[in-house]
Amino acid sequence: MAATETPLIELVDVGRVYRRAGAGRRGVATRALSDVTLRIDPGEFVAVMGPSGSGKSTLMNILGCLDRPTQGVYRFQGRDVGQLSADERAALRRESFGFVFQSYNLLGSATARENVEMPAAYAHLGRALRAERAEGLLRAFALGNRLGHRPRALSGGEQQRVAIARALMNGGRVILADEPTGALDTKNGEDVLAVLADLSARGHTVIVITHDPEVAAWSERRIELLDGRVVADRRTEGVTRPARGDTVVGPNPSPRSEPSGRRTGIDFQRAAESLRGTLASLRANLLRGSRLRTALTVLSVTVGVWSVVAMLSVVQGGYRESVETVSRIGADRIFVRSGVAYGDRKSTPVRLTLADAEAIRREVDNVRAVLPHVSGQLTLRQGDRSVETTVQAAVPEMLVTDRLRLARGVFFSERDSADHEPVVVIGAGISDELFPVSAAVGRHVLVGGAPFVVKGVLARYRRSGSVVEDYRDKQVLVPLGTAQALLFGRESLDSITVSAEDPKRVGETARAVDNLLARRHGHRGFSLSSDIPSMIGFSTVERLMSALMGAVGAISLFVGGMGVTSVMLVSVAERTREIGIRMATGARRQDILRQFLLEAVAVTVAGGVLGTMLGFASRVVFDAFEVPAALSVWFVFAALACAVGTGLAAGIVPARRAAALDPVAALSR
Ligand code: ADP
Ligand code: MG
Repeated sequence: MAATETPLIELVDVGRVYRRAGAGRRGVATRALSDVTLRIDPGEFVAVMGPSGSGKSTLMNILGCLDRPTQGVYRFQGRDVGQLSADERAALRRESFGFVFQSYNLLGSATARENVEMPAAYAHLGRALRAERAEGLLRAFALGNRLGHRPRALSGGEQQRVAIARALMNGGRVILADEPTGALDTKNGEDVLAVLADLSARGHTVIVITHDPEVAAWSERRIELLDGRVVADRRTEGVTRPARGDTVVGPNPSPRSEPSGRRTGIDFQRAAESLRGTLASLRANLLRGSRLRTALTVLSVTVGVWSVVAMLSVVQGGYRESVETVSRIGADRIFVRSGVAYGDRKSTPVRLTLADAEAIRREVDNVRAVLPHVSGQLTLRQGDRSVETTVQAAVPEMLVTDRLRLARGVFFSERDSADHEPVVVIGAGISDELFPVSAAVGRHVLVGGAPFVVKGVLARYRRSGSVVEDYRDKQVLVPLGTAQALLFGRESLDSITVSAEDPKRVGETARAVDNLLARRHGHRGFSLSSDIPSMIGFSTVERLMSALMGAVGAISLFVGGMGVTSVMLVSVAERTREIGIRMATGARRQDILRQFLLEAVAVTVAGGVLGTMLGFASRVVFDAFEVPAALSVWFVFAALACAVGTGLAAGIVPARRAAALDPVAALSR
């Protein structure tokens, strides 16, 4: 064999010592390999022999970059492998090596084709190309009708051929086979060896560990180990290869370079593909033996998210209800009246005007509405009927702020006020008194002697069957402009009511109104009043309630998250060998980390979706018990964010543990 400039594989004084914590202070040291120096050239077919425990597997793991020597130097194509990072070694495994194990080491949850595709998936080869290539390899190994079978449904020989196909998926320049025929009967064993011999003939470098002298007889070179040392390294003349033609042999796949370098921005196709792959593996993993466990974990997260949604809705519902109560009792309002403080003889009362109301509306923060008030005691007359009552000037805004509902007709507009239209809106009680038999709207009525037209009648406040009159049924409202011009003959207002947007900040708003009016009038000839103490009580209770509910929700979510963590830890422990297989076929640490994180997130998102649905469904229960609950669309996002966050937090420890596994240790489980 012609020696090339740079050898493919070169070991110089390589040693490997295993240290295990033992009885002694330094633990027990096992010397598995000592002073191994050898060189292997491209296309060689090497048999490694030796008794059990002589270090064959250790040598193989070092050659395949699954393990690192503790002494000496290993160069692959001239590169010192000892200097490479874990991910660089993973890349080398992915691109240059193909492993074939005695126990096949196929993923039980994946089909034959998916098993073969795995190394290419980690090399980011496109889905279509991957499937095509995997199918081609399996067909060449007479497994064309076994593509969708899982390893369980395949014979030992078939499984080993799937494993060889997987070793060839990314090219497989160097095939490392650790006792590949150990678990096979003679016929199947011979088939597998014929395949390996043929690969060697096609230019692959094949290194095979075997006990079988017959196997060794096929090889061109025999390396013998004893107690971790190379005791013989012979090239055999006149190799007797099995006859060609009676076995199926794979194609000669040329080493393929990774399609990198042509990446621009975000590769959506690749992202979609990895998502699809992840979903497929999630489905496979969640549907394996641990189905009940997965279901229980999802359930625990469901309960956590459910309680978060329920708590949120109760807090929000309670808040809305209390804001409503507050505005109903008027605690969100500030009354401004003209007048001076008791005992103040120097100041004079200010004249509050519409301009003051406008200024408050314009300049003060947290103002929902500003209502100017002017009222007077007047007589209303209709034919021979009359009623003496309070006539109030009103602005159209009052319709909203006082929640007025009209039984008939309409409310007046800004225009009515500006044009001093003689129109009036009356309460149901007034309507009863003045128009007992006919409809009031459109009819004339004398207000303080002046003719007005009834524009609307308010809905009745008095409960049916109640003997108590409601004062609101006695309201008589005329447009502010009309009232000032036609009824009261003055520009000044009796008072101004300011409603706060956020009732909790009434105090602050009152101070701002106070300062504004003092500035406008030059002195404090007015007085402010509001129900601030009840607001303070309200906001304290509200804060306490939110904190309590939030704590309950967070605790249940935390408990759910711990469930996810423990299940994931068990899963990592159970799937150690799977992780080892993935690493041997070239998975980066990141790939493993991502896989387990995504599994955790998938479980919590499933719980999140169910929990949100339950949260919305429990509306029925809240309604039945008259608990004020409100649900918003943003709860869905909040709940899903909680679920994803919990998944990431709960999955990080198990995922890191999985990614940190040593491939050799993981494979030996
Ligand atoms: P072979 O494959 O030739 O049977 P190995 O390479 O598996 O031999 O093992 C060589 C020696 O190293 C044996 O004495 C074995 O007990 C020891 N050994 C192998 N793996 C480990 C390990 N992870 N920890 C400690 N000792 C080990
Ligand atoms: Mg071994």
